[in-house]
Amino acid sequence: MRFDFFRYAIPDRFNPATTLEGYETFEQADKARRTLVSLLKAKSPRERKLTELLRKCRRGERCLSAACPICARRARAWWVTELSEYMSVSRDENWYAVSLVPANCRFPLGNLSTFNPARVKDKLRKQLDRSRLANSVVVGAIDFGVDASSVRHAPMWHPHFYLLIQARSKKRIRKALGRYYPKAAHTPRPIRIRKVGSRDEDLVNVTSYSLKSTFTKRVRVKGPSGTKPIKTPIDPDHQVELALCLHRWGLGMRLFRRAGLHGPNVGVR
Ligand SMILES: [Zn+2]
Repeated sequence: MRFDFFRYAIPDRFNPATTLEGYETFEQADKARRTLVSLLKAKSPRERKLTELLRKCRRGERCLSAACPICARRARAWWVTELSEYMSVSRDENWYAVSLVPANCRFPLGNLSTFNPARVKDKLRKQLDRSRLANSVVVGAIDFGVDASSVRHAPMWHPHFYLLIQARSKKRIRKALGRYYPKAAHTPRPIRIRKVGSRDEDLVNVTSYSLKSTFTKRVRVKGPSGTKPIKTPIDPDHQVELALCLHRWGLGMRLFRRAGLHGPNVGVR
């Protein structure tokens, strides 16, 4: 049974729909749902099943698919409010927003279904267990992007983590995880860490970023002073590929939680 995040009320204080500028509106999510339905060609039983689910998703009978833009919008609001609330009261140590990009976790376009989120999360859990962050609260989610910025490599899916870590210092996080996430030619900055502010808007901002609902392709464009990477929307074919994977994995598979957080969300796997 899928976790029904529509059952939980979204408190006003951290509701991203009313407090976060740029948070997708219901109308935008509904338009994205209709676009996805039009992109799904119903070629395979999996595509047909997802098309049918997305078509039927309506008030009171939501489909709860991680691929559905309306349901994902609501799931994100639930995640943001749960996590922001938790972070606002749990301030013994600072919170850091950490993006973690495993260099060897890359998949040719069309092959994203071979990515195993459970395995990458287990690996990260073990790395944390063995590190000086063994007692730290670490929460976040897996994000997806296409890296098409290199002329030497074909475009690839590059799943990565966006985490919120409670720790004594930035240095401690870098020391704990640095050896597991080395630089590579295509991954020049495998770890980025920044301290999270304590204002409500800071919390809503980082928590909403930790479970993104729009996915981008990184490309390189020519400018007056050479080429620079920019982000553009992923191509329709790859939107479909990702949607089928997200639907199969479910929302819980994207989420990473370690220690702490024992709210009603504990049932999500
Ligand atoms: Zn839905």
